[in-house]
Parts: sequence; C-alpha cells; structure tokens
Amino acid sequence: MTTAPQKVALVTGAARGIGLAAAKRFLADGWRVALLDIEGELLASAVAALKQRDTTLALTCDVSDAAGVTKAMAAIAGCFGRLDALVNNAGIAVFTPVLETSDADWSRIMAVNLTGPFLCTKAAAPLMREHGGGAIVNITSISAVRASTLRSAYGTSKAGLAHLTKQLAVELAALGIRVNGVAPGPVETAMAKAVHTPEIRADYHDAIPLNRYGLEEELAEAIFFLCSERASYITGQILAVDGGFDAAGIGLP
Ligand code: NAD
Repeated sequence: MTTAPQKVALVTGAARGIGLAAAKRFLADGWRVALLDIEGELLASAVAALKQRDTTLALTCDVSDAAGVTKAMAAIAGCFGRLDALVNNAGIAVFTPVLETSDADWSRIMAVNLTGPFLCTKAAAPLMREHGGGAIVNITSISAVRASTLRSAYGTSKAGLAHLTKQLAVELAALGIRVNGVAPGPVETAMAKAVHTPEIRADYHDAIPLNRYGLEEELAEAIFFLCSERASYITGQILAVDGGFDAAGIGLP
C-alpha cells in the first residue's frame, strides 16, 4: 500500500497572528509548513515554539522583494520538494485620513498587500504545477468591500487583492490551481491592537451581529478548509469570516 505524500503549505506573515494560527492548523492536519516573515527573530522564536523541526521551515523574507521571494521558493523546493498550498497572508495596515496619507505609506501598503501576493503566486505556481496543482488563499479584508474613513490605502490594496484572486482563479485553473480569498472582519491581533482606536472598536462592536472580534483560529479554519480537498470545486470565491458584518450592511464612520 502506498501512502499519500505529506503535503506542503507556505504561509506568509506567519510569525504571529492569523498567519501563525494558519500554520498551526496545517501542522495539526499532518502537513509540512514553510513559515515566511519579514521579522526574522520573531519568526525564529515562533517556529522554535512549535517544536516541529522536521515539518517546518522558517524563511526570513519580504514578500515585496522579488529576488527574496524567488530564493524562498527555491529553499522550499530544496527542503520539501513540492508545494500544495500558498496562503498570501502577510499584510500591513496604516489607518490615516486620505489627505494625510504619505506617498511612502501608500506605496508600501500596495507593495506588501498587493504586489507581495502577485510575486509569491508567480514564484509558487510552477512548483505547485509539478505535482498536479494546488490551492492559493489570499487574505483580503472586509475593508475591501466596505468603504469607511481612514482606510483608503489599506482598503484599496485589499480590493485589488480580491480582484486579483478572481483573475488568478480563472487563469490558473488550467494548471490545476484553485485560488480563493478569505476576508476577515476585525480580529484581535497585533495589527488590530496597533490601528484600532477605542472609537473604531466601539464602531465594530455595534456593526457586527455576532457582537465580537473574530479569533485567529476561526480564520485559520476557513483558510485550511479552502486549501483542503473538501473545497475541491471552489475557486474564485471570497469567503467573509466577519461575524455577519458585511451581511448586516451597517456603515462604519
Ligand atoms: P499581524 O500584524 O499580527 O501579522 C502580520 C505578519 O505579517 C507579521 O508577522 C509581519 O511581520 C508580517 N509581515 C508584514 N509585512 C511583511 C512583508 N513585507 N513580508 C513578509 N511578512 C510581512 O496581522 P494579522 O492581523 O495577523 O493580519 C494578517 C492578515 O489579515 C493581513 O493581511 C491583514 O491585512 C489581514 N486582516 C487582518 C484583520 C485584523 O483585524 N487583524 C482584519 C482584516 C484583514
């Protein structure tokens, strides 16, 4: 009897937050996981704490750096020999009024949140193709579909990523690669702690039918599902994991 090869996932922005929770979810199901992050020390301690030396690979890399992404993909090919799932999770948020948003912040947000997934997808697809395809999940945001103040750069980058998800789903189907998105509502992570003021928190609580922030593990479950065989006929979709925020349609200031 032959056993199925152990699958491999690459999660970007995996040193903490939603990315780390997603990496843990793959590991719990017996996958091997490459964890990539720009913060080398944070990543090293997160990976050490997983205590899974044989099934993890830590890669320090900026997703907006094409040469770095190519190098990281070569390391995955060398270490694991295959890639079955890519989670484009690395992202940054700067919440500022549009007229006070610096050109540098605008460019950096687009580079990390939109160009990063493009570069990682381009580098990952050939490796996925070698073993018959795979799945990509892009982490967008509820800010991609709901406009509000302070999020012009962030929301626009995520709306671009949501559209890129659909473009990629159409183009990469021929390679056996499914591409979907997960759109989180607010989740209590380091990012939320940095940009959600008490006023923003109050607005979210009022606007979310389930009346609370999401948990990293709840996002990880949706990401894992879309990468799994159980989602084998799903591609080009954006799954909102937001406590009903988008469905309720209550505007944020
Ligand atoms: P987080 O800040 O806790 O974690 C993000 C990780 O990405 C960090 O470890 C960071 O070092 C890494 N990272 C940042 N820039 C990078 C780069 N250039 N290259 C590689 N790694 C980089 O954030 P989080 O809340 O876990 O967010 C994860 C994703 O979910 C992001 O794309 C974010 O936009 C999205 N999201 C989060 C929320 C929320 O409320 N937390 C809501 C909607 C969407």
